[in-house]
Amino acid sequence: MTTTRHALASHRHWVFDLDGTLTIAVHDFAAIRRALAIRDDEDILAHIAALPAAEADAKRAWLLEHERELALASRPASGAVPLVRTLAARGCRLGILTRNLRELALLSLEAIGLADCFDPAVVLGREDAPPKPAPIGLQHIAAHWSVDPAELTMVGDYAYDLASARAAGARSVLVNLPDNRWPELADWYFADCHALAAALA
Ligand SMILES: [Mg+2]
Repeated sequence: MTTTRHALASHRHWVFDLDGTLTIAVHDFAAIRRALAIRDDEDILAHIAALPAAEADAKRAWLLEHERELALASRPASGAVPLVRTLAARGCRLGILTRNLRELALLSLEAIGLADCFDPAVVLGREDAPPKPAPIGLQHIAAHWSVDPAELTMVGDYAYDLASARAAGARSVLVNLPDNRWPELADWYFADCHALAAALA
């Protein structure tokens, strides 16, 4: 464990998922599906993408307005603000890879008081890259920083975050769950961002 902690503290390039990782997850996907008449077993974004243009536009507009309200009301996940501030103060490079829209991700970062820690060029939303678990968003960020994807450490709260890191050859950190649900995908697991920050001390 000592070796692991030493290794994590030496990481310089960090990419964070947003919802549920740096913010408290508030999306009520069941309510969104009800409002947009989408079946429980369907992916919301894929459903909308397959609709005729007029209907797709109407549902996208509703979703954007709904998500904008959520973004403005964002609250930080436990330990997220001190964690990010610590990494920024050390001169680490920090990025965001989210299935949310970039504009809303930036609003959320403003709302939790961390916008100044992230270069907007490396805040990637769902319009910027194919969604996780695809590795392309991480590859874009690595290219922007002129480093190999293996230099990136991806922090997230869901299997897609970890799987995108695996697919890109990056390192993966799972946070904000009561236990390590995906040990085969997570290189490190911490109960929350406080615990991750403590491992970096
Ligand atoms: Mg998440």
